[in-house]
Amino acid sequence: MGTFNFPVPPIKRRFSTSGRIRTMVVLVLSAFLAILGSITFTTSASWNKTSSHLNAHPSTSVTRHTAAPTPIPTQIPIRKPAPSSTKAPVHTPVLAYPLFYGNTHLPEVALTFDDGPNPFYTPQVLTVLQQYGIKATFFDVGYLVADYPNIVRQEYHQGNLVGNHSWSHPELTLLSATAILSQITSTSNAIKAAIGVRPTFFRPPYGAMNHIVLAEANYLGDTTVLWDASAGDWKLPGVKVIVSTILHYIHNGSIILLHDGGGNRAQTVAALPILITTLENRGYTFVTIQQLVDDLAAPAVSNSPSSGTTFSTATISETVAWRRETLA
Ligand code: ZN
Repeated sequence: MGTFNFPVPPIKRRFSTSGRIRTMVVLVLSAFLAILGSITFTTSASWNKTSSHLNAHPSTSVTRHTAAPTPIPTQIPIRKPAPSSTKAPVHTPVLAYPLFYGNTHLPEVALTFDDGPNPFYTPQVLTVLQQYGIKATFFDVGYLVADYPNIVRQEYHQGNLVGNHSWSHPELTLLSATAILSQITSTSNAIKAAIGVRPTFFRPPYGAMNHIVLAEANYLGDTTVLWDASAGDWKLPGVKVIVSTILHYIHNGSIILLHDGGGNRAQTVAALPILITTLENRGYTFVTIQQLVDDLAAPAVSNSPSSGTTFSTATISETVAWRRETLA
């Protein structure tokens, strides 16, 4: 604004009466365009301000920008987080829908372990993974990360991915948005303090979520990850049941849920080598959730019933309810 420079005097001297009229028309038109331009500039500046605010490093005392009234969305838009020195480099956009599985055209699966780090069982899981040269994903609980940062470092330095599983493992759907934000942020801070990298994947405890949980995770730059292959290993059903149930659900792109913390995990540790060798014999390779998400970019992949980029909140609730009853 204020930078437009009209060479008025030379034009007036050069043109005749009809030329002056043309000049005036041009000036009026230019002025109109200038006003229009300034309006567009103001709007865009205000949007940029909004975006940078929304993507700024979060804290629990965040105040939401409410300048522009927006209708309640029926579908959650995908939002890329802004680059930040406190966040890990984002390889892929944050997914606004929960990820249940990856690319169904690729024979790859992701092992995920929840509720650690555990000083007794996590090292055993890490040993098995190392023996088979496999990378997995650990969704760690924040307060345990603070208690056992060395185990988290071991997870990370062995090439595994470390994800966020909330600070104290509450059912997030029962908490306020501020409390949800605090649970995720404090855990990401603890993981960043332990390994120097901020997680970009989040798994809600019990798989319990609603559109607020999803939105808060997205706001913090995290993709929410669930699963499609689980055997309730935390209920100690026996090694054979754990193996056979996982194998029953497995398919291309499967996300396997297991637990390395939260109780006795001896059966999980015992089932792991059997699962790994069986799945390898069937032609599957093991990838981290990051790799699974990167591989979604392959063509002709539909990751949700409606589309590959959005996921209706209604479908989320129904699917999660179903998952919790049958799998979790
Ligand atoms: Zn859990």
